[in-house]
Amino acid sequence: MTTLIPCPFCGDEDATLKSGPCIFTRPKPATFMAQVHCAHCGAAGTRFCGEDNLANANKKAIAAWNAADRTVATILARVTSIARDVFSVSLAGWIICLIISDADLGATFRSLIIGSFIAGVPLMTYEHYRNRKA
Ligand SMILES: [Zn+2]
Repeated sequence: MTTLIPCPFCGDEDATLKSGPCIFTRPKPATFMAQVHCAHCGAAGTRFCGEDNLANANKKAIAAWNAADRTVATILARVTSIARDVFSVSLAGWIICLIISDADLGATFRSLIIGSFIAGVPLMTYEHYRNRKA
């Protein structure tokens, strides 16, 4: 079976495929349904029901889940990483400026520290809760 890639909403890696006889197309008995669910945030992929073949229903549900747009999650992770890097480099630069007594350059690094802190704390908090297992 094809592997499920992480949840497009929370990034959790424990998404599960739920499938079996279709309960929505009863009394027509021999149809199947399949849908991927995220156990962490409750997101669900496209539900395929009324399928004649269980394997095909599974394949379609997995393909739809894996094809979901993950752009926002990827961009947020990248911006969080940049804010963290700017903070680290600026902190080091500010400390060096204290040592060499360069107040002007020190003020620039201090602004970068404040800016990356203000941007980084909510982003890292979001990332922390997104990655936390329920
Ligand atoms: Zn999720």
